[in-house]
Amino acid sequence: MKNTRTLRLVLGDQLNPAHSWFKKRDDSVTFLLMEVKQETDYVLHHVQKICAFFLAMRQFASYLESRGHNVLYLRLDDKNNVQSIEGNVRKIIKAYEYDRFEFILPDEYRLDRQLKKLSQELSCESKASDSEHFLTARNEVNEFFKNRKEYRMEYFYRYMRKKLNILIEENKPVGGKWNFDVENRSRYSGQVPLPGMFNFNNDATDIVDLLKKYKIKTFGDIEPERFIWPVSRAQSLKLLNHFVEDQLANFGTYQDAMTTDNWLLFHSRLSFSLNTKMIHPAEVIERVIREWEKRPEEISIAQVEGFIRQILGWREYMRGLYWKMMPEFAKMNYFGHKRKLPDFYWSGKTGMNCMKQAIGQSLKYAYAHHIQRLMVIGNFALIAGIDPVQVDAWYLGVYIDAIEWVEMPNTRGMSQFADGGITASKPYVSTANYINSMSDYCKSCHYSFRKKYGDRSCPFNSLHWNFYHRHRNKLSGNPRLGFMYKNLDKMKKDERDRILKQAGLYLDNIEDL
Ligand code: FAD
Ligand code: SF4
Repeated sequence: MKNTRTLRLVLGDQLNPAHSWFKKRDDSVTFLLMEVKQETDYVLHHVQKICAFFLAMRQFASYLESRGHNVLYLRLDDKNNVQSIEGNVRKIIKAYEYDRFEFILPDEYRLDRQLKKLSQELSCESKASDSEHFLTARNEVNEFFKNRKEYRMEYFYRYMRKKLNILIEENKPVGGKWNFDVENRSRYSGQVPLPGMFNFNNDATDIVDLLKKYKIKTFGDIEPERFIWPVSRAQSLKLLNHFVEDQLANFGTYQDAMTTDNWLLFHSRLSFSLNTKMIHPAEVIERVIREWEKRPEEISIAQVEGFIRQILGWREYMRGLYWKMMPEFAKMNYFGHKRKLPDFYWSGKTGMNCMKQAIGQSLKYAYAHHIQRLMVIGNFALIAGIDPVQVDAWYLGVYIDAIEWVEMPNTRGMSQFADGGITASKPYVSTANYINSMSDYCKSCHYSFRKKYGDRSCPFNSLHWNFYHRHRNKLSGNPRLGFMYKNLDKMKKDERDRILKQAGLYLDNIEDL
């Protein structure tokens, strides 16, 4: 009798060496990884994002081979590569006469549908397995909120803390509070030394050459000989160590701070390693707690809780919302915003220093931290009324960690309020006041953060009020925004008119800002 032969597909964000698939060697199984134009081209990508994925996939394929597994790796330039996942799977199953096709459930809706359809159409048997990565099931967030009035991350986060017994003592939160957010909002002005930058010297020259040869369109900068992102589990663990040893003690305190001198501050930069599954969220949390227990004098509970909330709370919560709202999510546009994304999102060339810095570093490193993404770049897009489809595409392309399941709820939901308030209870918008309080950007800006209208007045000021003015019908009933409308209505008519006129002028000449 002929032995059953199985083809197992490993996607670029499924590089989880601890997955049960890889536990034991089996000669009848072949693991397939592929570099395909389908994935380089579904959105315009930052060159570093493609390099990071391809390098990590190549490392992972070598790792599997070194453990004795059968691996079929299709490079972008492989003559048998038909450049789509579906096409390659069909071709390989036929050519090598596989009897079974298996895949790990993708985290992205687009691929989820594609693989489901493919497996139904194949004449051989097929099976899907869990990714064994997340701390919740796909529908757990939805189930949790089934009988509640509104979705709020905080409730879910407390449930997760209890469910997994993390930072819980005698059924109560360690430190006496669930959330230390109010302690975590300091501006950085040199109070503590900045941590050293921990970069890798990976070689991405081969991939950059391939992208050129195959005319794959990309944007953004790269130093191919000194590629800074972690592309293996070993490198990811080194980055995690660096974070807990050098950054964790100040993570929470400066979590919202922004500075011209340093693009990272105390953020971990672990999102690419996590999202490709080279490291597991539980091991990150466990490592953080271990370090805190080792150095309780230096690392406060506020830092530890602040960090764990991001991974245990926000990350799982966003994934749950994505699966609840897809595919409708991708079309949501609560405010009906239609304006084109300004060209300076692609060049960083603008007189608004905060945008220049935050976009500039996104183009240079494929990275900006949360507050830069939310309260600078996203804030501007929302108050300027940019089409959320274009905003989503930009975020999905530019960031090293951008995979739709986490990019979309953060961008379309949290940052653009395009879901009308499911992800966030109110829009994340601000005037220059907030940006000035959390950064040093305003002091060297062409615009004046104090001025609401007139020559060199900060665009964030007039556009912010214009946003509330034009969406009064949709927002004035929001209990969290009553004070905002009170302030708008309290303004002298003349002042309000000038602000709104200034906003109109800026919007008409948005490319010149
Ligand atoms: P740290 O600040 O060190 O945080 C640690 C980890 O917590 C991160 O690595 C990440 O895994 C997790 N985390 C923190 N905040 C969030 C969040 N809001 N949602 C999910 N996980 C979170 N994150 C992505 O991974 N991919 C994206 O495409 C993405 N797009 C975003 C778009 C917008 C508009 C906004 C406002 C946020 C977005 N985020 C995204 C969330 C967050 O900004 C990034 O996870 C974080 O900046 C990554 O850098 P870090 O690893 O240094 O994070
Ligand atoms: Fe940004 Fe306005 Fe400050 Fe300039 S003044 S950095 S545009 S917030």
